[in-house]
Amino acid sequence: RRELMRSMVGQEDVTLDGRKIKLYCNIGSPEDVDAVLANDGQGIGLFRSEFLYLATEDYPTEEEQFQAYKRVAVAMKDKRVIVRTLDIGADKQVDYFQLNKEENPAMGLRAIRICLNRPEVFRTQLRALYRASAYGKIAIMFPMIASVWEVKECRRACQRVMDELTAEGVPFNPDTEIGIMIETPAAVLMAPELAKLVDFFSVGTNDLTQYTLACDRQCNDLGKFYDPHHPAVLRALKMTADAAHAAGIWIGICGELGADLELLPTFLAIGMDELSVTPTAVLPLRAAIRKSIAKNCTLELLMS
Ligand code: PEP
Ligand code: MG
Repeated sequence: RRELMRSMVGQEDVTLDGRKIKLYCNIGSPEDVDAVLANDGQGIGLFRSEFLYLATEDYPTEEEQFQAYKRVAVAMKDKRVIVRTLDIGADKQVDYFQLNKEENPAMGLRAIRICLNRPEVFRTQLRALYRASAYGKIAIMFPMIASVWEVKECRRACQRVMDELTAEGVPFNPDTEIGIMIETPAAVLMAPELAKLVDFFSVGTNDLTQYTLACDRQCNDLGKFYDPHHPAVLRALKMTADAAHAAGIWIGICGELGADLELLPTFLAIGMDELSVTPTAVLPLRAAIRKSIAKNCTLELLMS
């Protein structure tokens, strides 16, 4: 089995009938890049930036963040590195943010909501990201989007940072791709409008399952009720993919579900362009993709 997996290194992610699907990796710190390269991930589909904020007693500086992003961008060379802006709050509490205690943190002030409320925190991270974009193929992704105005505001923040860097003569890539996570039912329903504002979608199935089924992802008692295979979740994926493709942008999955081999035929039938998974899941998925026939894949699991 190990031999079979090793033989997958260097192979293309393509089905028997020629459908290509990109296999990217999820990472949580710059050290994880070694595992991405060892498992032949074709990019990084989700670089969770929380490690920068969780490891310290105070806000990480622009320089600290820049060094971390640059290191990953350089190591990945011409491969895409999608960095998600901070997703603090909910399950990830950080004292120095001094957030109020909430009854329902999963539905509270978290992720992009904090960034839009605290422009200075957001600006520092965006400056670090744009500076790092000069050293590799950085893309920026915003979590927990629910509304069109949020994306417009994010884009304005990006533009302001680019204007600043231009004025300062600091190099950056002005074509840095901007994407959003689709992890709220609102984002699924607004996908046609949202798709016109960004370069890509990436579905966060962990949160999308939680919010679609009204099932707390942290609650162990829910058992079979927290079911990412629920047809409602799979239909949400299909609706979002259709909206993305109608607008001419690509869509991937970066939640745990992306590595679920049982759902691979469903993802192919939906037309997912990318799956971003834990590095050790890349080669088994590649083996499965290379044995698949996309045109025979059906949407039957959406009906049950
Ligand atoms: C998700 O919600 O599926 C996701 C990828 O983000 P996180 O697990 O970090 O919330
Ligand atoms: Mg999430």
